[in-house]
Amino acid sequence: MTTFQFKKKYGQNFLSDPNLLRGICCDAGLTCDDNVLEIGAGAGALTKQICSIAKNVVSFEIDKQLENVLRDLNCKNLTLIFEDVLKVPTNEIEAYFNGSYKIVANLPYYITTPIIFKFLKEAKKLVSLTIMVQKEVAERICAKPGEKNYGLLSVSCAYFGQANIMRNVSRKMFFPQPDVDSCVVNLQIQKKDETVNQKLFLEVIKASFKSRRKTLLNNLAEAFKLKKSKFSELKFDLSKRAEELSVDEFINLTKAIEKII
Ligand code: SAM
Repeated sequence: MTTFQFKKKYGQNFLSDPNLLRGICCDAGLTCDDNVLEIGAGAGALTKQICSIAKNVVSFEIDKQLENVLRDLNCKNLTLIFEDVLKVPTNEIEAYFNGSYKIVANLPYYITTPIIFKFLKEAKKLVSLTIMVQKEVAERICAKPGEKNYGLLSVSCAYFGQANIMRNVSRKMFFPQPDVDSCVVNLQIQKKDETVNQKLFLEVIKASFKSRRKTLLNNLAEAFKLKKSKFSELKFDLSKRAEELSVDEFINLTKAIEKII
């Protein structure tokens, strides 16, 4: 590691504190029966901790310069993949596991949201995500209707499961030190409703939050290119703003919109 240069472009802020590494695995509820997908192995501090508990671990790392240090971990239950996790189809990733799996990761912050959406939308065998994210993102994930951080990410996570902030992590715990504090968030996957059209649901919430100051009616009419009068067929108060609606209300709204488009 002596010649290793940390790459800001890859969000390389590494952990080393043993208590924190154990704490993250504890937040994930890891047991010896678990398969784990780690995203961003870095120098392997968290990888090693996960491997000491879980059954099988598959760890992605984009930076090939870390290959030697990661191979030196010599963990028998570890499969290392040196690829950009966003470029590998989710079904190919899931094929590494015989059965269900958990995600445990100190995520690269520059792609936190794309990674969350990739797995929420596409994963079939995912049980939970336990992820280190920026504090501000953690607050958005866990926000409730009416709160200032409530938005697309909050509703999506509430649809796909139950999210909780497990611990606050000071920026001082990382090397190099980032400009922001972090949190570990645990999201247990349990879809709210299997009958709603998931693709449309995501389109509806995206459209609803597009302009937070606009009413639902204005945002939806614009996004779906429909006359406002068409929405009067829906039994919905569309004079509200998106931030007022719960996930259940968004589900009902999606089911209603499906009938008029
Ligand atoms: N797990 C290590 C730890 O906790 O010390 C490193 C975490 S660091 C915040 C994020 C890691 O993700 C970096 O090693 C970075 O190179 C890697 N990474 C960044 N973008 C990636 C991508 N698209 N696919 C896979 N790994 C990526």
